[in-house]
Amino acid sequence: MLVQVAVAAAVRGTFTYRVPPALEPEVAVGRRVAVPFGKSRRATGYVVGFAEAAPDGVAVRDLAEVLDTFPLFTPDLLELVRWAEEYYLCPPGELYRAALPPGLNARAGAAAPRRRAVEYAAPAPGAAGALTALARRARAQHAVLEYLLARGRIPVEELRAAFPAGRAALVALREKGLALVEAEAPLPAGALLAATASAPPLMPDQAAALDVLAAALEAREFAPFLLHGVTGSGKTEVYLRAIAKVRASGRGALVLVPEIALTPQLAGRFRARFGADVALLHSGLSDAERHAEWLRLRHGEARICVGVRSAIFAPVQDLAMVVVDEEHDPSFKQEDGPGYQARDLAVVRAKQAGAACVLGSATPSLESLENARRGRYRLLELPLRVDDRPLPAVEVVDLASLRRGGRPLGLVSPPLAAALEATLAARQQAILFLNRRGFQTLVVCEACGREERCESCSVSLTYHRRRGVLLCHYCGRVERVTPACPACGGPRRGIGVGTEQVEAAVRQLLPAARVARLDRDAVGSADDVAAVLARFANREVDVLVGTQMVTKGHDFPGVTLVGVVLADVALALPDFRAAERTFQLLTQVAGRAGRGADAGRVIVQTWNPGSPAITCAIGHDYAAFVAGELASRRALGWPPFARLLAVRVEGSDDGAKACAAALADAARPALAGQGVALLGPAPAALERLRGKSRWHLLFRAAGPEPLRRVHRLLAPVARRPPGGAAVRFDVDPYSMM
Ligand code: ADP
Ligand code: ZN
Repeated sequence: MLVQVAVAAAVRGTFTYRVPPALEPEVAVGRRVAVPFGKSRRATGYVVGFAEAAPDGVAVRDLAEVLDTFPLFTPDLLELVRWAEEYYLCPPGELYRAALPPGLNARAGAAAPRRRAVEYAAPAPGAAGALTALARRARAQHAVLEYLLARGRIPVEELRAAFPAGRAALVALREKGLALVEAEAPLPAGALLAATASAPPLMPDQAAALDVLAAALEAREFAPFLLHGVTGSGKTEVYLRAIAKVRASGRGALVLVPEIALTPQLAGRFRARFGADVALLHSGLSDAERHAEWLRLRHGEARICVGVRSAIFAPVQDLAMVVVDEEHDPSFKQEDGPGYQARDLAVVRAKQAGAACVLGSATPSLESLENARRGRYRLLELPLRVDDRPLPAVEVVDLASLRRGGRPLGLVSPPLAAALEATLAARQQAILFLNRRGFQTLVVCEACGREERCESCSVSLTYHRRRGVLLCHYCGRVERVTPACPACGGPRRGIGVGTEQVEAAVRQLLPAARVARLDRDAVGSADDVAAVLARFANREVDVLVGTQMVTKGHDFPGVTLVGVVLADVALALPDFRAAERTFQLLTQVAGRAGRGADAGRVIVQTWNPGSPAITCAIGHDYAAFVAGELASRRALGWPPFARLLAVRVEGSDDGAKACAAALADAARPALAGQGVALLGPAPAALERLRGKSRWHLLFRAAGPEPLRRVHRLLAPVARRPPGGAAVRFDVDPYSMM
């Protein structure tokens, strides 16, 4: 017996192995095996099929072991991986590895299902009477009990997301007999109906969108949708209702979200509605937890998966609907290893499964919008906020004219400062957004002009004042700061602002304000993020300063002011999507304001008040932005009007350059008159990274077929790259750096 095996290594194609007779009963497609690979190395492999005969001239070796007692990959997932491998030109073994939860990848043979019930918390009868006493002596317990009394019976997960010390407070409450904690198996169908009944009545546009989705679910055919709804229009409620219908028909649903750690509320909403029927897959969980959640899906104990990018491969059974929330978010693109785009794979998976697919966003990507315009996706629109809450009023502060007015420019302009003061005086909350970490982003010598740069990466080092160091944001290199220039001894000055400096400026401006910072320096783990967000949600923090981590889909009713410290940061990047990213970020962060009963206000500080990305975001005018941006993409030949293939080369200075030149040579037959343009080879914008020299080639064509021809020409070079460089193909690239 011979089998085809995809080996978990950076090689394309599959390999043939012989199955020793003793292992024959255990071998099946979709199971993992241990195989000898290369120089007697033992590697993990994935059985993808059987073979009739060994390829000529190849000595076939024996499988060493079968690792699983049941197939980890069902036929639908094998089909999806096969599609992704072909399209993204990546090693199949890497995709199979990426498709499994890390806990399962590490442990050989760890396939015994482990049941895990979801825990629920509820207030004990009569607990309300104890509130006053708790208010004085145990504030955390008071807050948790108050929440429980308001919400009734909720998953403990939600409590953990809402309160940093939620778990400990709950245990204390239970010991005092004030709260109940119980485990529960998946909800019976009747309970599901009850949970749905407690949901709010839909707004007319929500109801109309749901009707269309319900009809598609009933038809049981592939149907792709683009759900364009302004921030706060109730998109999530539409997903929840549609998934309730999926469950009522006994089928399963998959929901992809950008980063669960940043939006614990969202996971909480799904758990609150569907209980243990929801499995969560994200990096905030321990490996063991992820493994357990994955198995619950695989065995049909949980039918709804809410997860991040890699959950596109989650083993949801009887898939009827795939949802991608915030479909424009760049985090759906995998940048290391197998470079797939989970949002695009969502459409493919839905097509293969005959399922509905909903891509939702307040600012749909131009790719998805163009698909809707061409009639490939059906467009559903939610143009109004829930309860007709107005979109926040946006004001612009033109930094250039302020400077011409001769006023000294602080980080917080006088209008923003006044708005912050008014917000705090009204006991409301504010978010300040700046898409750059650190205190100062460049340190220069005023005498000799020397800039502090990372030796291994071609970027400036960022000054982090609290830690007292200069830090490379790419490789993590740390240098001590000296007041004098190490080259000439001259005085040094920091320029460029980061979130740490914004935090310091706010503390100085408003000494009484409670300020917290949310960026990768301030918070290490997913738990820390949840803790900061929970303190903000509990109104223990007045002003939250942060990077794009603060722009995600948070729902804080107390926030009435959003300040954008410098709107221009993302605009200056050498990337054809820079304007689109800027528009999306500004719209998302503005959407955090005014989600409660009080109206919101947004203040945008910028040097480019006339740039379309900024004026359209200010005017909440998606249509105007995309009209202009689509026209310029069409004129310049960028996606969605062209397809791109990036070839990334990394190696020594000479090696990378030589390899890039060899690749350009090899591609020549595909270029002349064949409708393919080659940009480069050129050093990448990030010319050096972690000590390696980087070159890029960017191929552009009207459709994917000519680019596949390019790949066929380059593949032999990539297999044995000159100069010892490493070559990576990136299909539909996002990063232009
Ligand atoms: P989006 O996902 O579009 O940003 P959400 O679904 O988060 O919007 O809805 C915004 C807020 O409005 C949430 O607090 C949600 O619970 C609430 N909401 C959604 N739909 C309704 C409705 N039909 N009636 C009342 N409140 C609603
Ligand atoms: Zn570096």
